[in-house]
Amino acid sequence: MTVERMPASPGGATSHGHLLELIRSADGLSRQQLLSATGMSRATLYERLEALLRHGFVYEAESLEATGGRRSRRIRFDNRGRVILVFALGQTHATVAVTDTEGFPLRSVTVQHDISGPSDQVLSPLIGAGKSLLGQGTGEVLTGVGVSLPTPVEAGTGFVAHATTIPEWRPDAVTKAFSQAWHVPLVVENDARAAALGERKSDSETIVYVKVATGIGCGIVVEGSILRGAHGAAGDIGHIRIADNGPLCRCGRHGCLAAYSSGRAIAAQLDGDSYVSPDAVREAARVPDSQVSQLLAAAADVLGRALAATITTINPDRLVLGGKIGSIAGMVDRVRARVLADVADRIADGLIVEAGDPGDDSAIHGLATLVMRQVFAPEAIDGAVADFLAS
Ligand SMILES: [Zn+2]
Repeated sequence: MTVERMPASPGGATSHGHLLELIRSADGLSRQQLLSATGMSRATLYERLEALLRHGFVYEAESLEATGGRRSRRIRFDNRGRVILVFALGQTHATVAVTDTEGFPLRSVTVQHDISGPSDQVLSPLIGAGKSLLGQGTGEVLTGVGVSLPTPVEAGTGFVAHATTIPEWRPDAVTKAFSQAWHVPLVVENDARAAALGERKSDSETIVYVKVATGIGCGIVVEGSILRGAHGAAGDIGHIRIADNGPLCRCGRHGCLAAYSSGRAIAAQLDGDSYVSPDAVREAARVPDSQVSQLLAAAADVLGRALAATITTINPDRLVLGGKIGSIAGMVDRVRARVLADVADRIADGLIVEAGDPGDDSAIHGLATLVMRQVFAPEAIDGAVADFLAS
């Protein structure tokens, strides 16, 4: 096992929060390993560990091999019984899940809805479902709540606003409803950004994730950090104008990417005015050379061309296509061909274009990661310990 030396503060010590981060990332360490990893004095390290033990952030686990006649115990992050409650909202349904601290769903339920309705009407059943799911567990401690939506979400405040997707909602509708229901840390994030984080395979990976379901969203993760932009709209590619005189988009403008390549646009061409669900489109796409396959190919061409600029700007390791429509194999193949043909060779070299999760698992995983990052951020832990010492 390799343990990187933690950056020490001017006092030659590592803060409570950074010590916890080190213990979490290494999956537990002995006192001796912590001493050599941090360069702290024994007295300071033991004082910090004592505080972390007292707060229930760490516990003493199994004995390691005896050293110098004394058995040393592994200090582990105390995630026993900790759970996270997550809500992945789409336009037509939401997945509510209780996960462990790694974002693995322990229990989940799907709730059908129409997100364009009043916020109360959409959120109340979800909060009810969340309470019911939590009630099914025993000995669990709720660590935090995460919510994702197919709308722009302002970084920092969690405020939402979108003229076409949630026309009647107040900006604080989500933060208010969930923080009244549960008095624990709350994270609100755009769905494609949460899924982008959930899809990443390592901390160093840079990925562009595009969700194509009823609408189109895009999340960008650069070396483990979500790109949010100045107003929380980074990656909101659905309403880029592709052509001046293109088809009418739901937003009221003509020629948006969503008017060509979203599940809604494909369904509208299939069945006139009546709405065909992304599930139905996915099912119909199994038949080769069908009308659906042809529509998907045309939609993928437009999407691939629109993504070339994003891919060139970000130069990611992977372009991941998720959502019920985006992850259809024929769609992925066609977008890959278009993007690789449109970008310069040095961008195309080594670029992986592949299908992501068609459902909500990546958003759920990403939300749990965001909650854990917020709750166990070194500054948050330092603050909690300082508050305790001051009281
Ligand atoms: Zn539009």
